[in-house]
Amino acid sequence: MKKIALFPGSFDPFTKGHEDIVLRSLTIFDEVIIGIGVNTAKKRYFEAELMEKKIREAFKSYPNVKVASYEGLTAHFAKKLDAKFLIRGLRNTTDFEYENSISQGNKFIWKELETVFLVTSPSLAALSSTIIRELHRYGENIEEFLPYKL
Ligand code: ADP
Repeated sequence: MKKIALFPGSFDPFTKGHEDIVLRSLTIFDEVIIGIGVNTAKKRYFEAELMEKKIREAFKSYPNVKVASYEGLTAHFAKKLDAKFLIRGLRNTTDFEYENSISQGNKFIWKELETVFLVTSPSLAALSSTIIRELHRYGENIEEFLPYKL
């Protein structure tokens, strides 16, 4: 059976840290779907449509990487895609505390859904979308943190 994994996130923006998680996931799964979670009540800094286009560009040579935006619960979207695995990255204990509770919530919605955690590569551990957004907001060049040209 084809192992399909969903890598969900806000990806506001998608960084080299995220890219690393996707590339490493490809050694475990047959197909990785990057899901941009859109919460209509929350304002994004980078438009989801733009991110979708840029992520697609970054993975154009990987036919087993797909990109999609979704609204609503991640577990519902995973079920719709028939993706029984969720991929999440862990940078530190703060990530762990948060991820632990979301993964319980997701399992409550779909019992077969397994969350697989990949520990961040040390050189990318300090990369966070929040910090990158702040740098960009105040005019800093953020290209070196992104796997595509803005
Ligand atoms: P969310 O808002 O859902 O937490 P993010 O876009 O911030 O979405 O992150 C998506 C996933 O990528 C999360 O599992 C997060 O822990 C992981 N992640 C973020 N930055 C890094 C990084 N530098 N290295 C590894 N994983 C990361």
